[in-house]
Amino acid sequence: MNILIKNIDIITCDKTNRVIKNGNIGIKKGYIEFINGTNAEIDNLKADRVIDGTHRLAMPGLVNTHTHSAMTILRNFADDLALEEWLFNRVFPAEARLVPGDVYWGAMLGAAEMIRSGTTTFADMYLYMDEVAKAVCESGIKANLSRSPLKFNAGENSETIDETMECYEYHRNWNGQANGRIKVSVEVHSAYLFNEESLGNAANLAKELGIGIHIHILETAGEREESFRRYGMNSAEICLKCGIFDVPVIAAHCVHLSDNDMHILKQKGVNVAHNPTSNLKLGSGIARLPEMLDRGINVALGTDGTASNNNLNMFEEMHLAALIHKGVNMNPELVGAEQVLRMGTVNGAFAAGFGSETGSLEKGMKADILLLDTDKPHFCPMNNLQSAVVYSAQASDVDSVIIDGNIVMENRQLKTIDEEMVKRKVLEISQRVLK
Ligand SMILES: [Zn+2]
Repeated sequence: MNILIKNIDIITCDKTNRVIKNGNIGIKKGYIEFINGTNAEIDNLKADRVIDGTHRLAMPGLVNTHTHSAMTILRNFADDLALEEWLFNRVFPAEARLVPGDVYWGAMLGAAEMIRSGTTTFADMYLYMDEVAKAVCESGIKANLSRSPLKFNAGENSETIDETMECYEYHRNWNGQANGRIKVSVEVHSAYLFNEESLGNAANLAKELGIGIHIHILETAGEREESFRRYGMNSAEICLKCGIFDVPVIAAHCVHLSDNDMHILKQKGVNVAHNPTSNLKLGSGIARLPEMLDRGINVALGTDGTASNNNLNMFEEMHLAALIHKGVNMNPELVGAEQVLRMGTVNGAFAAGFGSETGSLEKGMKADILLLDTDKPHFCPMNNLQSAVVYSAQASDVDSVIIDGNIVMENRQLKTIDEEMVKRKVLEISQRVLK
């Protein structure tokens, strides 16, 4: 289907951060055909659908570079706890009661929530990732899905099972599926759940398959201390030693980085997923974001799972990322709106492995676009579009969402997900798993 969006304000997030007032967007067979096309280009498009963009703002779909989408099942059940207590004593025992079908419904709810709040691509790690892949296929969203070569059995016999063969199978079954909307990575939960041997094996697996790794790094001060006890070096250093950084990496959190760690991340081109809400909620600390950006590290944004956030709202992450670093550093010039928008879009697309096809509104990119309803008091007047999105917008302003040129939400109606059924299923699962 060819779509013309006319009379629309546009934030492109292209190389020059172009912002256009009252322009137009042409979409042809899933791709952006033009931004601000001429009358001839508009005629040539032969649009099947024309969307009037009056009182709407178009921007690239948001990219959530670190989440565990099916954790929607565990939303609001264990809060106000430190990470170790929360993860080992509350989350892992509840997750041990999940069966594969549960994860499908949890991920579908996550997809519904993400589309509603303007996320068009996410990077996920969890158990039963086949189920997440099914949810991605059906919902129309795109994702970088990571599968772990190690299975951890929670509870008394906390044994570890090697599932390297299942990773090959997962890659074979899902990489490039859903019209290229799925990319597969290797999940390495963390240097504290893996050991030197399994870190090295995971790195070799990713190299062999030619794919990336998604990992949690230095989320807490405790992780840093334990890493020194166990390896005689911190998590970033042991990852470097074991070859983890020899492939494209999404490193979630990176809260407790030393200067040398930042040097390593920059040298190895590691992508950082900054998760301000999760880090604040779990009391993990505040990442050295301005310094990472100054060094030219590619920093993107993530929500983390809904058990530590407790939503998948990227507008909140952009808002917090723009605010907290100004506050703690007592410097209002740090992390501006333009920079935060790039973190939420282009930087995220690059981190998730979709950099060549999404993240900005430019000719030739996939049409991953969200339209905000700006006909609201908190958007009046719209003096600066980028500031309006970062400082004034709410996720509930997302009116319509297009992914790969398909309209997956229009006028706040989801087109691909039966939201009522998904909510009912997740409620049932949650009651069973958390009882
Ligand atoms: Zn996480």
